[in-house]
Amino acid sequence: MNVQDFYQIYLKANNVTIDSRKVGVNDIFFAFSGDNFNAATLAEDAAAKGALAVIVEQKNFENTEKNIFYVESTLNFLQELAIHHRDQLKIPVIGLTGSNGKTTTKEIIHAVLSEKFNVQYTFGNLNNHIGVPLTILSIKPEHEMAVVEMGANHQKEIELLCSIAKPTIGYITNFGKAHLEGFGGFEGVIKGKSELYDYLVNHQQTILVNDNDTIQFEKTLNYSPKISFGKENSDYQFELISSEHFVGLSFNNTTAVSKLTGEYNFTNLCAAASLGLHFRIDSEKIKHAVENYTPTNMRSQIVKKGGKTLVLDTYNANPSSMTASLNNFVTFEGTKTIIIGDMLELGDESKTEHQNILNLAKSLNFNQIITVGSQFKNVNDSAEAFANTAELTDYLEKNKINSENILLKASRGIALEKALDFI
Ligand code: ATP
Ligand code: MG
Repeated sequence: MNVQDFYQIYLKANNVTIDSRKVGVNDIFFAFSGDNFNAATLAEDAAAKGALAVIVEQKNFENTEKNIFYVESTLNFLQELAIHHRDQLKIPVIGLTGSNGKTTTKEIIHAVLSEKFNVQYTFGNLNNHIGVPLTILSIKPEHEMAVVEMGANHQKEIELLCSIAKPTIGYITNFGKAHLEGFGGFEGVIKGKSELYDYLVNHQQTILVNDNDTIQFEKTLNYSPKISFGKENSDYQFELISSEHFVGLSFNNTTAVSKLTGEYNFTNLCAAASLGLHFRIDSEKIKHAVENYTPTNMRSQIVKKGGKTLVLDTYNANPSSMTASLNNFVTFEGTKTIIIGDMLELGDESKTEHQNILNLAKSLNFNQIITVGSQFKNVNDSAEAFANTAELTDYLEKNKINSENILLKASRGIALEKALDFI
């Protein structure tokens, strides 16, 4: 089967999915093998459920259904189909990468642009070599724009994702200390994320630049086309405002306070508002979008529980986002407990980075510091250093936290949100 021929089938399909549980009538199913399941079995199930087409790479698999198609590589076929579809689209595609804040920025950009346009965007965190093609394939004729999150933890991954998403506008949320292991240190992070700029420059596409980020500013100094924000002579200027724990921005005689906490979210809001202004969306509508976006995804989320204020940031953690989070939390009024869990994937620098964060936490004088995970335990000799979330919850059952404010932040692998029920 070649991609061009299959494209005609794709155009008649409802959805494209790789999840056999979600296959519906008239969907296209790409069967990937997993640890606990075999692609051929999944393919047969999907075909029986009424899928319009099923793509499978197993060679010696007895095909009894007409709608099952063999390909050499399911992954390549998915990516090539997405590229072919992308080539037919004449809409702006905004591509995002960066160490932290991609999903949050993607969501706010979507909220702002949706005030005026029909915008498709990455579902959840589907930002890798499979998620990006799926996002592209979810763009339908009625969509006027798309926002695509692109994640990476190795060199050349962003290059590949750009070749699929072909962004017409690109933005790097930040260069931070994340996935140091895979990228080869901080210099490696800059190089890897900058593959987005390489694509945009080579294809004469627009770069959205935060002029307050020195690396971004310098890398794009003489580049055009660009949309810039942050400095006095940037295209757009914003002032940081805050109300209670929430961050917001003021611009063009408008003030908008979001439901997000953390000063780092100011940058994320500025990026989204800049795109809104660039696409001529009224300030009042941008305000509406900023004020109504509600995070529900364990990213900078504030939860009130039993008279306490909890900051739930358990979706992920790395040295830069942990530092930002602690510096934000220390500004909260009242007594404060931090429960911080390991930052994973730091390679050789792991011990030093955990030590640095612990030192920072101590210097900020929180009322109580609890750590979870072996990396922190390695550097923390306190009685409140736990090896994992289960040990922590055992402890919390007997020892109530008294502070008025509690921060929970850790890498995904620590599953720190499980402690929530014990607070
Ligand atoms: P992932 O790599 O898991 O896809 P992401 O880049 O999509 O992560 P988010 O999920 O949006 O990032 O945010 C994760 C956390 O990063 C937030 O909860 C917050 O602590 C921190 N963060 C968000 N924006 C920024 C920013 N601009 N600079 C630094 N840290 C940030
Ligand atoms: Mg993300």
